[in-house]
Amino acid sequence: MTDNHGRKIEYLRLSLTERCRQRCIYCSEGGDGCSNADEMSAADFIYIAKICSQLGFKKIRLTGGEPLLRHDICGIVSGISKLDAYEDIALTTNAAMLSQKAKDLRAAGLMRCNISLDSLNPETYKIITGCDLQPSLEGIRAAKRLFSPLKINTVLIKGVNDGEIADFIKLAEQHAVDVRFIELMPMGGKGERVKNSDIIAAFPHLVPCRRDLSEPAVYYKGEGFKGRVGFISPITDGFCGGCNRIRITSGGVLRPCLGSNLEFSLRKAIDERDDELLARKITEAIRSKPLKNSFGHGFTPNRKMNEIGG
Ligand code: SAM
Repeated sequence: MTDNHGRKIEYLRLSLTERCRQRCIYCSEGGDGCSNADEMSAADFIYIAKICSQLGFKKIRLTGGEPLLRHDICGIVSGISKLDAYEDIALTTNAAMLSQKAKDLRAAGLMRCNISLDSLNPETYKIITGCDLQPSLEGIRAAKRLFSPLKINTVLIKGVNDGEIADFIKLAEQHAVDVRFIELMPMGGKGERVKNSDIIAAFPHLVPCRRDLSEPAVYYKGEGFKGRVGFISPITDGFCGGCNRIRITSGGVLRPCLGSNLEFSLRKAIDERDDELLARKITEAIRSKPLKNSFGHGFTPNRKMNEIGG
């Protein structure tokens, strides 16, 4: 369906849980202590996906928190896949548990996988996430064989991992993966942003690829690169004009815009399996989607990123 600013909204991001074993300094710092009292069931998520498909949604992403902490993750993927309504069913994960689950996820109907990887150095990885790098690297190896093209998401923080930019670019040169630098957003965590425009200026051998306006990333390539280097710049190059997404938290709250605290509770409609009420609430939320995010205008989020789902 179309929002009040003429944008076609067809991309649903479901946060399956707030829980995460990683405590990324810019994200949650919540770790295992996050609450999950409110977490919806697999059947609830599949129900939301069904109603959204009837409203014209075509893409779905499962995120969190860490979605692989859900023991029923394959059941959720397979339930959504069986709706036969989505062109794209994707997952965002830190990959720490992916080596054990990648095959089953693929068999369940998962089509694509984005992996967060903020450092290639075990010590820096530990400083950022509080966890070991090795399990995530094993997860990436397993996923690379099954999901193509694999996307690696990297958030750069000044003085922490910004010395690794060239190493990440080399990853895209040597492997068929898309490495995407996501500008740090002010979501209540710590760290100083690295501007994507500064990276582009510092690596002039990267040339722009043709832009896909439904994607937040702008992609670049160097000669002989197997993969691409992407830049997602919510702060310095707001892409709100092409925004096609809404987010639903693990507790059933819809956020029409990441950079706004506007939210709508869907929980009653979900609990009562009231199709009409749920469709009406989602429609109302889409119609209220702000034209622009409020990053850069003193925005203070009332939820952390692990709650909203990145
Ligand atoms: N646990 C999963 C993971 O690590 O990919 C999924 C959830 S995580 C919240 C989703 C994405 O949000 C990750 O790629 C993470 O780097 C990004 N993210 C979290 N906080 C952010 C922030 N303040 N600014 C930019 N990206 C952020």
